[in-house]
This record gives sequence, C-alpha cells and structure tokens, in this order.
Amino acid sequence: MIIAANLKTNLTRKETKQYIQELDTYIKNNAISQEVLVFPAMSSLDENDTSIIIGVQNAYPTKNGAYTGEIGTTHLDEFGIQTILIGHSERRHIIGETQEVIVAKFNYYKELGFKIVYCIGEPLAKREAGEAEMMKYISAQYEGIDTNYENLIIAYEPIWAIGTGLTPTLEDIESMHKELKKKSPAPLLYGGSVKVTNAKEVLAVENVDGILVGSAALYSEHFCSMIQYAQELS
Ligand code: PEP
Repeated sequence: MIIAANLKTNLTRKETKQYIQELDTYIKNNAISQEVLVFPAMSSLDENDTSIIIGVQNAYPTKNGAYTGEIGTTHLDEFGIQTILIGHSERRHIIGETQEVIVAKFNYYKELGFKIVYCIGEPLAKREAGEAEMMKYISAQYEGIDTNYENLIIAYEPIWAIGTGLTPTLEDIESMHKELKKKSPAPLLYGGSVKVTNAKEVLAVENVDGILVGSAALYSEHFCSMIQYAQELS
C-alpha cells in the first residue's frame, strides 16, 4: 500500500528532518514494506538519508528561469527529488491553478519520469447535485492527463472532506473508488480527514490502495500507526 503525508505549510526544516528520522526509525524497526511518501514544505527540503520517498507539494514546469516564487527542477535535483504532488485542491482553489496549468505541469514532470501523485475530488455542492453532476466534475479533472502513465498515483480527495473532520461513508468511498478504477489502472489513494481513528477502516475498503493524509500526519506517531495498519492489511 501507499501511505503519503502532505505536510502542507507546516514544520520547519529542522522539524521536518526530525519527523523523517522518526518515521524512518519506525519503518526500519518494524520491517515495514509499504511505500511511504512525505511531501514537506518547499523550504524544508533537505538531504535526508532515508528509504522514505520525499516529494514536493509543487514545482513549476521549468528547469529554472523568471518565475518569481516558484522552484524548478534545478532545485529538485539538488535534493534528488523525483516525486511531485499535482492538482491538489488547495492549489486548484486557493492558488487558482486551472486544469490547463495542471496539465502543463503534469506533462512536464511526466516527460522527466517523475512519480506523480495526481489529486482529484469534488466540492460538496457537486456531490449534492447528484451522481451525474459529480462525475462530470471529476471527469473534467482527468482531461489532458495520461491516466496510463506508469509512474502515476491518483488520490481521490473530496474537497469538503479535506481538513474538515468530515469523511464520506465507507460505502461512498468504495463506490467512488470502483468508478475511478474504471478511468485509470494507477494505484488509487483516498484522502480527506483520514486520522488514526479511521485509517484502518478506510485502508480496508476495496480498491483503496493507500491514503494521503494532511493534518493527522503531522504527528509522527499517528502517521506511524497508519503505516502499521497498512502493513497489517497487506
Ligand atoms: C490533504 O490535504 O491532502 C488532506 C488529505 O488533508 P487532511 O488529511 O487534513 O484532510
């Protein structure tokens, strides 16, 4: 299974280093064979001697250049980073990234062979508008994306469940994942208010290949428990 932590705008470089070390120790001491990914804040990227896959939450589709506030592959290469999160709802809706921008980023990093964790998910209004409306919205997030890319991981994250403490029912997760599996053979993660108290049941849902965790992953002991659940279920 794939267990991923999106640290968002949290943890300094020093805190991140300690966090990664704690996870790494747990993984080694417990012979964990799951794929563990961590996406630190941009300024917390560093050289880390770890088996954990470290990715970026964002980067511009460029090597370098005049893109104020962005980083490119020159900066990722410095730390050997080859994994990127693309299409996260906070970037779509807070930063305003359009599908066009997202596709450009996807294609650029796909060409470079990066592991891409591609996020999709609907706002509450679309879910409440019914199955057809919701699937139309989600389908638009697949437009321009090579769903057969071999280094692709998809994360289904209903926007209304991110950081809110709300989660769909396990039945809703199961039926959505069943639908989404028809669109791509890529591993499919669930994300949105996964915490130590519900991770085990979410991981046990059919067609859930792992989880993408935000707030609850900030506590290394909680995140380690989730890794352990995945190990037990595998
Ligand atoms: C996320 O932002 O990817 C996420 C899943 O956040 P949270 O776990 O806090 O809902």
